[in-house]
Amino acid sequence: MLCRLASLYLNHHLFMNNIGEYFFNDNTGKVTTAADDEFTSEMETDYANLISLYIPYYNQLPEELKKRFLRRAYHFRSIKNFHYVGMAELAEIPILVSAAAVQLTLGLEKYELPFFKNIYITPDAYKTAEETETFIGHVSPDGIYISWKYFLQGYADSTDNVNVAIHELAHALAHEYFMEETGVDADFRTDFTKFSEVCGPVLAKISTQKRSYLRNYAFTNFQEFWAVSVEAFFESPAALRENLPQLYASLCNVLNQDLLTENKILPVSA
Ligand SMILES: [Zn+2]
Repeated sequence: MLCRLASLYLNHHLFMNNIGEYFFNDNTGKVTTAADDEFTSEMETDYANLISLYIPYYNQLPEELKKRFLRRAYHFRSIKNFHYVGMAELAEIPILVSAAAVQLTLGLEKYELPFFKNIYITPDAYKTAEETETFIGHVSPDGIYISWKYFLQGYADSTDNVNVAIHELAHALAHEYFMEETGVDADFRTDFTKFSEVCGPVLAKISTQKRSYLRNYAFTNFQEFWAVSVEAFFESPAALRENLPQLYASLCNVLNQDLLTENKILPVSA
């Protein structure tokens, strides 16, 4: 049941749409965009200085990939509208959120997440008017929502398998997979389908042997299994590979990354 991708996804989608409306109708959000002008060497240095302070993943990349990372972060930031809901704009926010997106997609050719034009930042965890649950982030057709406090916590402890930005961006990337006209690599499409097939046996194994390795939230539905697995993939790749090698290998294929190799990024498979 947990791998019945399409039907579960639809439920998730409709549920999140209601929450999105709450924010969409709330006009307190401040919007900023950046022009996608030339990425100067001064800007590159500024981006590098900031990102290296917060995102350990970046520091582990070979020099050439660092350059790709920074260019992509700049471009990603330039094509998104950032909204600050109930908080002041901070210059580092759009850069670091863009960097998180680039971390997730560095192995892929298509990384713009074109379905999502808007990114909403809240200061802390939030509740909606209708719902009783508290959120630290979610994804709806209106945009990607991330609590800034929890964004920072996610990167402050980079090995606890919890990273809200990576989690929500993984949902967004999966959403792109379901939108046929938009942006994922053909290769991602094939490998993500394989990932959903691996899901069943992996879940069966976890439930009998090592269920505790992934946090329990992973077992909510397929979408959460995907997002929680991706968090673990980036936060503690060696432990994930040791505990759930099949899942780890499948994620390497989907994302074209293997953080346990020197080059980090894998060649695109045939
Ligand atoms: Zn989730």
